[in-house]
Amino acid sequence: MRRWMAFVLAAVLTGGLTACAGTPADPDEAQESIQVIAMDTVMIISAYGEKSTHTVYMAEDEIRRLEGLLSRTEPDSQVSALNHADEQPTAVDGEVSRLLNAAALYSEVTGGTFDISIAPVVSAWGFTEAENRVPSQAELDGLLTHVGMEHVHAESPDAVWLDQGTQVDLGGIAKGYLADRIAMLLRENDIPRATISLGGNVLAWGDRPDGTPWRIGVQDPKRPDDAEGFAGLLQLEDAYAVTSGGYQRYFEQDGKAYHHIIDPATGYPADSGLISVTVVADCDREASDGLPGTGTMCDALSTALFVMGEEKALDFWRNSGYDFDMVLVTADDRVVVTAGIAEQFTPDEAGGYAYEMVS
Ligand code: ADP
Ligand code: MG
Repeated sequence: MRRWMAFVLAAVLTGGLTACAGTPADPDEAQESIQVIAMDTVMIISAYGEKSTHTVYMAEDEIRRLEGLLSRTEPDSQVSALNHADEQPTAVDGEVSRLLNAAALYSEVTGGTFDISIAPVVSAWGFTEAENRVPSQAELDGLLTHVGMEHVHAESPDAVWLDQGTQVDLGGIAKGYLADRIAMLLRENDIPRATISLGGNVLAWGDRPDGTPWRIGVQDPKRPDDAEGFAGLLQLEDAYAVTSGGYQRYFEQDGKAYHHIIDPATGYPADSGLISVTVVADCDREASDGLPGTGTMCDALSTALFVMGEEKALDFWRNSGYDFDMVLVTADDRVVVTAGIAEQFTPDEAGGYAYEMVS
């Protein structure tokens, strides 16, 4: 703990990016960076190396392709086709069926706190509609009878169907899967180093040009609009860092804030005592492309652990068998960091949090 607290970061942070670039050691190393707006998110793709330009534009194509496949609000997507099939079996791409099955697995292992069939409830709160609203308890009770992965039948890509009243929303997992796909492109194009920032989903690929790890800021949820308002900084190489929080997408009514991560047990925005969860896991550079991969895992788990709350999240971290670490920001102003990343984490005292390391 002391060693961790004493660790001082010498770097000066510049710009509003989550990933902070250093001075290139090799000024000739090619670099390309693009910004893409998709999936309701500002995405920044920065790659180094000979094929950096080619690769960032391949990544953009991949973003557009997956948005077209997985979006719930895009009428021609495969997810929309499923949601409007009226119980009729529908053929989907093998990729979509693998993702649905990954979602089912994460639902099972997280005790249903991650559940893509929460879709009708997300809509009732207006998060996919023009306007937000607070649904009545009777309406939520009715919708919750259609929530649960037992209503999603995805054993074969040739015939996937949803029970009457059930819909799916891949918003809690799609960006993580996208990060896995972009990692595959980085690998195929021999990209030595890159940072991929898909909203709260970051992939730190390789190291910085000066040979030090990437610095990834964990947003201070109390200062969501301050690009340099961090609860702390993570030094990462070949790793995913994925944050779920209630502070970015929410609306207020009668002085109360309602955010977009729903507890499937209640139908209400999760109120677990956490204000953000960041899940960190290694990205295996040499991985054969068995997708969905670790990026998808981080995204599903960050949503689930946010719903679970601190105690259950720590329990899951200790006992689930999944290999990851996390940074929890609690409503009572603590930042809890798990032992595996404690040495890579530097607190930012400006946030006024108490820092704890757990093992
Ligand atoms: P973000 O979309 O901000 O990156 P998350 O990965 O946590 O955050 O996903 C939240 C999205 O997932 C919501 O906008 C909604 O579409 C969907 N969602 C909400 N609650 C759940 C849940 N309990 N399980 C799975 N998906 C959820
Ligand atoms: Mg998620």
